[in-house]
Amino acid sequence: MSSSVNLGLAEARRRLAARELSARELTLAHVEAMAEARQLNAFITETPELALEAATASDARLAKGEGGLLEGLPIAIKDLFCTRGVATTAGSHILDGFVPPYESTVTAKLWAAGAVPLGKTNLDEFAMGSSNMTSYHGPVRSPWTKASDNADLVPGGSSGGSAAAVAARIALAATGTDTGGSIRQPAAFCGITGIKPTYGRCSRFGVVAFASSLDQPGAFGRSVEDSALLLQAMAGYDPNDSTSADLAVPDWTASLKGKVKGLRIGVPKEYRVDAMPEEIEKLWQEGADWLRAEGAEIVEIALPHTKYALPTYYIIAPAEASSNLARYDGMRYGLRVEGETLADMYKKTRAAGFGAEVRRRVMIGTYVLSAGYYDAYYLKAQKVRRRIVEDFEQAFEKVDAILTPTAPSAAFRAGEKLDDPVAMYLNDVFTVPSSLAGLPAISVPAGLSAEGLPLGLQVIGKAWDEQTVLDVGLAIERAAGFEVMPYGLASG
Ligand code: GLN
Repeated sequence: MSSSVNLGLAEARRRLAARELSARELTLAHVEAMAEARQLNAFITETPELALEAATASDARLAKGEGGLLEGLPIAIKDLFCTRGVATTAGSHILDGFVPPYESTVTAKLWAAGAVPLGKTNLDEFAMGSSNMTSYHGPVRSPWTKASDNADLVPGGSSGGSAAAVAARIALAATGTDTGGSIRQPAAFCGITGIKPTYGRCSRFGVVAFASSLDQPGAFGRSVEDSALLLQAMAGYDPNDSTSADLAVPDWTASLKGKVKGLRIGVPKEYRVDAMPEEIEKLWQEGADWLRAEGAEIVEIALPHTKYALPTYYIIAPAEASSNLARYDGMRYGLRVEGETLADMYKKTRAAGFGAEVRRRVMIGTYVLSAGYYDAYYLKAQKVRRRIVEDFEQAFEKVDAILTPTAPSAAFRAGEKLDDPVAMYLNDVFTVPSSLAGLPAISVPAGLSAEGLPLGLQVIGKAWDEQTVLDVGLAIERAAGFEVMPYGLASG
């Protein structure tokens, strides 16, 4: 494996600018790494030709001293972003054969910034899941294994392919989307950094919709700086997305100092959930100690409606999903299974095209939106969501950021929890509340479990205050000094 795949996004950028490395060399190394790591199943579609073509064009621009923010840097794209001329599957059978005639705003921005497209990464079907086991294109394997055995572990989900690709040094960075934790949880499981910005910071235009009031694109990198750099290129107002915010994108990387002196960091007591492993509790404590040692003040806060966040999310997200997924009818694009009548064709197409988890969500969503149950479930959930938002508003009157674990455990075995959807949903217990409130949050690798697997800490910030989230994240990154590589790569 060429050593250039071990560079971070920001470091590779510096070397390209200094002409110590060409975009073509860097891209070739990643294309090779991608081919060598096929056993991970991290990609659904590889685009090596497009990558090399883009790299050549980048080299020409770099030679003239030109180039965008990500000029010549190979990255991967979650296969939920529509890419013109390149198949987009959302991890589902129902989008078979779909080649978008248009580009998502986020990916358009990335290509305009000079990024090099390695391919489209695997994901849970329609981004529903926490393990990347529900993809029609097969599960993604984590590049990590436990110290004690070689059993396959999940990379987390739903952006499991992106997280695995970045952890396995196949891509310098990757895009993800986060509806209830799909960037932060896989980042934690794979020992990398992942940031979900404030809802509305990145355009959802051209991102296959799961739950529109929650979905938000974000970035994976192997460091806080790398994630900030990628996010910088992704973010910004888009008139094509009515929920996109008309706000300037601050220069996060330029301001990134990791200084937390004088900041007040909240630790919510409600996140001490039952049966949380002691090592997670310990890591959380350690994280608070690191920040205190850097001059931050640790404040105990209350987020009293936290216990309702998961049930609320698992009403609202399926409700929106059932509505969003109504468009897949076999008529205009994707899979079609012929039937005797139009209704029969719809039924056959949807039955064949959607996997079990997607069907479960469509059914739950349809149920909670049905006339007889709308008030009892959907309307109630919206009211509770408001309470959760208010919890955060009150907390942020007292603190600048909130520190929690990212997930209640390290990565679990492939296949575990699959027959127990509730156990799977519980994985999102720490990520879902901030999603419901639309707040920015990052996961930073902070330590190892007793089994030798990465564990992440989460920093949640005020709306539009990605800067503080990144700075606190950087302080944790520095204190943790997490440099362990997935064991299969350690010799690389
Ligand atoms: N695991 C959560 C779910 O299954 C979150 C997924 C996501 O953020 N896309 O809904």
